Amino acid sequence: MTESTPHSFDVLVLGGGSGGYAVALRASQLGLSVGMVEEAKVGGTCLHWGCIPTKALLHAAEVADHARHGESIGVNTEFHSIDMPKVNAYKQGVVDRLYKGLQGLVKSRNVTVIDGHGTLVGPDAIEVRGERYTGTNVILASGSYARSLPGLEIGGRVMTSDQALAMDWVPRSVIVLGGGVIGVEFASVWKSFGADVTVIEALPHLVPNEDESLSKGLERAFRKRGIDFTLGVRFQGVTQDDNGVTVTLEDGKTISADVLLVAVGRGPRTAGLGFEEQGVRVDRGFVLTDEKLHTGIANIYAVGDIVPGLQLAHRGFQQGIFVAEQIAGLSPAPIVEANIPRITYCEPEVASVGLTEAKAKERYGEDKVKSLEYNLGGNGKSQILGTAGFVKLVRVVDGPVVGVHMLGSRVGEQIGEAQLIVSWDAHPEDVAPLIHAHPTQNESLGEAHLALAGKPLHAHD
Ligand SMILES: Cc1cc2nc3c(=O)[nH]c(=O)nc-3n(C[C@H](O)[C@H](O)[C@H](O)COP(=O)(O)OP(=O)(O)OC[C@H]3O[C@@H](n4cnc5c(N)ncnc54)[C@H](O)[C@@H]3O)c2cc1C
Repeated sequence: MTESTPHSFDVLVLGGGSGGYAVALRASQLGLSVGMVEEAKVGGTCLHWGCIPTKALLHAAEVADHARHGESIGVNTEFHSIDMPKVNAYKQGVVDRLYKGLQGLVKSRNVTVIDGHGTLVGPDAIEVRGERYTGTNVILASGSYARSLPGLEIGGRVMTSDQALAMDWVPRSVIVLGGGVIGVEFASVWKSFGADVTVIEALPHLVPNEDESLSKGLERAFRKRGIDFTLGVRFQGVTQDDNGVTVTLEDGKTISADVLLVAVGRGPRTAGLGFEEQGVRVDRGFVLTDEKLHTGIANIYAVGDIVPGLQLAHRGFQQGIFVAEQIAGLSPAPIVEANIPRITYCEPEVASVGLTEAKAKERYGEDKVKSLEYNLGGNGKSQILGTAGFVKLVRVVDGPVVGVHMLGSRVGEQIGEAQLIVSWDAHPEDVAPLIHAHPTQNESLGEAHLALAGKPLHAHD
């Protein structure tokens, strides 16, 4: 920072990840002056240690599977091995290009990036390396970190996604602790890369926050892929030596592998940042806000993973836009948490938006909810790709579709339309006349709505 760097702004953001930089970009677009404090890299977890690098690995995994299975459709390929340094170079290339683009964008919008660790020292002030910066509005967006369990120390062969993303070798065997989104994505990558994989999940299902049909479908698919998993049993402890790790479960069973990935969720990064000292209410580390993301203290707002709810980059983007527009005096529509699309990018993919069948029944009553599953067995493109799965719709009887749940290779790409249907309270009868191009996986959404509207085409009555 030079002496001429401004020290007071209309909007001062703590953290330059998905949530923070979205506030910054939108606020500056609306004519507000913006300072953004970032101690590492603008782009945050998603760009550097989350969404983008993991999806690059998953793409490499898909290519490996294609090479392995090419012969079955007459393309004589053979899977030899994974060159991890090259995979990492490809992954880093993607990240670097996006990072460069983002830095250019931030600069072109005249956002002042303040390098260093920030601490909230007043209701309108953040201190960075001994200098005080002020904002008429302050936005907390310090994000999250990979959590562990009490007594489970990260180090050596016991790692979180941060270390796993930096590995330059493929383990022969892996134990993944946690069957949530991050756990099953890594399990999927490593299996495709040739490792033996075991997932340990304390709850009764993989991806336990999803509709149970998706969890069961994914478990079937993982079983078929040879990915082992243990459900409903808790982790007890781990030992490690030069050769590997041994995990003990509460039922006494032990499992050994080269490495243990701890994927038990992400905690809010809020400790020691001065939030509580300024009166910001914090619950188990998460910053509490009203539905307008205001903390209740002065002009302090919070966005992204530190706000309780889905920890997803696109939620952070939308919250950032929302807060910036609100500060600028616009009236943005509040964000409906259930309508935030969710994708787990393992193979096969899991994608959903809206309410699970169980949640819909809780809200509307057991006999007021109808559901329908359209099997991808009837979808031409899915057959061409060789994927199994389904589209499940949940509707209110004589009412709108309130949930769409999908399983199958590449189904994440279908979430856009599903999101419009649920967000616009469309009835199956509204969607049925819309035309879906043939042959696409997207047709399965159309077919499911035709069936739910009582006129199935490529499905039995
Ligand atoms: C392995 C993995 C895969 C993921 N995959 C997906 C996915 O496919 N899709 C998806 O939607 N989401 C995914 N996520 C989640 C996504 O990355 C997060 O939801 C998103 O990054 C949250 O944005 P944020 O702005 O709240 O926080 P972050 O991205 O964590 O950004 C916070 C920023 O604040 C900075 N910071 C923190 N404290 C300070 C301080 N005191 N001073 C200065 N700077 C500070 C940090 O350096 C960081 O850059 C994934 C996460 C992980 C870990």
